[in-house]
Amino acid sequence: RLEIRDLTRSFDGQAVVDHVSLKVMPGQVTCLLGPSGCGKSTTLRMIAGVEMQDSGEIHVDGNLICDTVFRVPPERRMIGLMFQDFALFPHLTVGQNVAFGLKGPAEAKRARVEELLGKVGLQRFVDEFPYQLSGGEQQRVALARALAPRPRIMLMDEPFSGLDNRLRDDIRDETLEVLKAEDAAVLLVTHEPEEAMRMADEIALMRDGKIVQQGAPYNVYNAPIDRHAMSFFSDIN
Ligand code: ATP
Ligand code: MG
Repeated sequence: RLEIRDLTRSFDGQAVVDHVSLKVMPGQVTCLLGPSGCGKSTTLRMIAGVEMQDSGEIHVDGNLICDTVFRVPPERRMIGLMFQDFALFPHLTVGQNVAFGLKGPAEAKRARVEELLGKVGLQRFVDEFPYQLSGGEQQRVALARALAPRPRIMLMDEPFSGLDNRLRDDIRDETLEVLKAEDAAVLLVTHEPEEAMRMADEIALMRDGKIVQQGAPYNVYNAPIDRHAMSFFSDIN
């Protein structure tokens, strides 16, 4: 369970993330949806621990992991990351990529790698190198790698934006299935309403650093809070 409270960050005196509060439950996907520049990636980077907030708190499973004085380092936050440009290691095989963040006995690691590659349907590529895979296959491997250490929280920043339309639909569905099976709390960033409608259990609509509306996709879509929200959703067909 991810909980952030009043997260705020300014650059040059300008608040780009402005008192953002959110809760994401295990097995649920919350989409942070909003136009370019509204502060989505900055929010995710603070949760990941690679950007420091000016104020506010981050809790994982009820434990404080970051406020303005206390800070758990990124690698100990039990958070998985998947970004569009978060590439696989080119010099490692698919299997080695997925095993990268794993600790413990070799046998257990191998079993976990096999399990995850099985879930994304890529077991046969375990000894291949990333360049031998298509873009979509590489994204599946990146998903397996991010989930391998059993993160409690999964942060995804426009993970599908580099893929063509048809492939993207398939990968969205598959990714959802794997994420639900692993029971992570997922925060997915997107600027595409259609993606949020398709993947989210909950949508948090963001504008100018603030969450302006939050709720089930159907409700946000059918009862947009103002005309900005309405026009943002209007180009879905
Ligand atoms: P996009 O959909 O285009 O990825 P976003 O919602 O992810 O947009 P952010 O990357 O969070 O937006 O950026 C929000 C604002 O904060 C932008 O105006 C950006 O220029 C600014 N910003 C982000 N990081 C920094 C930084 N390190 N220094 C100065 N300004 C920054
Ligand atoms: Mg961004």
